[in-house]
Amino acid sequence: MTNKPPERTSTVPRLVVTQDNQFWFDAAREGRLVIQRCTNCAELRHPPAPACAACHSFDWDAVDAGGDATLHSYTVVHHPPDPAFEYPLAIGLADLPEGIRILADIAGLSHDRLVIGMPLRITLVRHGNGEILPQLQPVEGHRS
Ligand code: ZN
Repeated sequence: MTNKPPERTSTVPRLVVTQDNQFWFDAAREGRLVIQRCTNCAELRHPPAPACAACHSFDWDAVDAGGDATLHSYTVVHHPPDPAFEYPLAIGLADLPEGIRILADIAGLSHDRLVIGMPLRITLVRHGNGEILPQLQPVEGHRS
């Protein structure tokens, strides 16, 4: 996925960027959704972590994700509201075909149309303070 993140006027709290997840945010600023991969055993992991849970290696690189996702589960949050988001807020846990899951807000369709197993797309959204977060959006043409 190599689309430049669309702008959003909301501001999210400043994200905690560490030496373990800096690569992910650097790639997101370039419009790339990436996944950390262990270079010892090839296990993919998300969110970023310093060591591989499978083989305990500290060696890793990152691979590009395609942006496709399948809704694994979701919840609709009503409280407490954060001014960065519109409420009620749907939060989805989505499976990527690469083999990881990602957690993100869901936008672009009403909550009563959410169906476990439905296809979604991951878009990187730039918020008003420059922070970039993934967002799950409907696949064009998909009817649920
Ligand atoms: Zn490993």
